[in-house]
Amino acid sequence: MSALEATDPDIFHIIQSERRRQREDLELIASENYTSAAVMEATGSVLTNKYAEGLPGKRYYGGCEEVDKIEELARSRAIQLFQVDGCEIGANVQPHSGAQANGAIYLATLKPGDVLLGLDLSNGGHLTHGSSANSSGKIYHAVHYRVDASGRIDMDQVREVALRERPKLIMTGASAYPRFWDFAAFRSVADEVGAILVADIAHVAGLVATGHHPNPFPHADYVSTTTHKTLRGPRGGLVLAKADRMKGLNSAVFPGLQGGPLLHVIAGKAVAFGEALRPSFKDYSAKVLENAQVMAETLMEQGFALVSGGTDNHLMLLDFSERPYSGKDAEEALGKAGITVNKNTVPNEKRSPFITSGVRIGSPAMTTRGMGKAEARQIALWITEALEGWQKPEVLASVRQRVQALTAGFPVPGL
Ligand SMILES: *Cc1c(COP(=O)(O)O)cnc(C)c1O
Repeated sequence: MSALEATDPDIFHIIQSERRRQREDLELIASENYTSAAVMEATGSVLTNKYAEGLPGKRYYGGCEEVDKIEELARSRAIQLFQVDGCEIGANVQPHSGAQANGAIYLATLKPGDVLLGLDLSNGGHLTHGSSANSSGKIYHAVHYRVDASGRIDMDQVREVALRERPKLIMTGASAYPRFWDFAAFRSVADEVGAILVADIAHVAGLVATGHHPNPFPHADYVSTTTHKTLRGPRGGLVLAKADRMKGLNSAVFPGLQGGPLLHVIAGKAVAFGEALRPSFKDYSAKVLENAQVMAETLMEQGFALVSGGTDNHLMLLDFSERPYSGKDAEEALGKAGITVNKNTVPNEKRSPFITSGVRIGSPAMTTRGMGKAEARQIALWITEALEGWQKPEVLASVRQRVQALTAGFPVPGL
């Protein structure tokens, strides 16, 4: 980055510090990952100079011959990753983020005031699933289902809410739900009330693409996702839909919601999708699950309560309702120990969303560094030690030293 260093040393040095942070600390935020050097090269390329409103072959600008090929490759690889037999789907790779992907689906299907049913935010749902703080909760009439006392989605309750509220659209998917989704069961509720079914697989997309999580197709009408979580691409969004819904969806993305697509990011998505189609990515996803299992089992063996009693995917939620510290305290203590997590609300949360009673822990980023079951167990024991000594700076500093010795042995690909 010699040009950057010469032109803008301020930004250059901050990026260098962030690079060091990413290398030295242990990244356990469930929604983060490390992209490959190839993805970063494509994302940092000359493609950022190009306008290309419209779709390949139907642009509002000249000079799009090369970028058309890139977007076509991104689309066809996305379809290949998520398609199932007997269900024709299309893809739009232009949404700038997961939130934009959901906004486009709503714009394509709902009118202001229509009823939208999604998982409650404090139960693991996402802001864009009808939170009052988000446009989805301001424009549409949002209603919610919740998890039951065991921390799982109860389909009888989903059906009851749906029959009472008659949603036009049912959202599945979450940011903090450690269990599989039963898309077939949601489809039958949707059919009973005549609703459109959407699966937001932002978190589990990489697991879906490799067969480690149920695929929402053929049940869902639309599937939205981010490209930067378990799918390990650049920051961005993606929508897939049944073929007959693509025309309306495409015009909701552009000109409905966005202007020009970010072709440099779309190139990064294409590279990541290509990587995800390889057998090595399937092995990676299997290890993501294995590492999450080992961390969950070790933490439970050490006496921690996990929401729903474990995990089926890449993440787990520690519930501190019965502990002296909050999610915020735990996030801060683990941060001092070199372990990055995020505080998270738990079902039946009693503290505010800024304090919370839980933390969310995920295995995708550590697994990308090549860490396996032995490291996963060790990390869970360090988390235990740090939380037991959450008010003792010397304990946190000592854990930090051991964490950094471990991360030094597992270089981040692409850094
Ligand atoms: C992360 C996430 C999103 C939003 O993604 P952004 O790219 O941050 O806008 C949407 N839905 C779910 C379920 C998510 O977890």
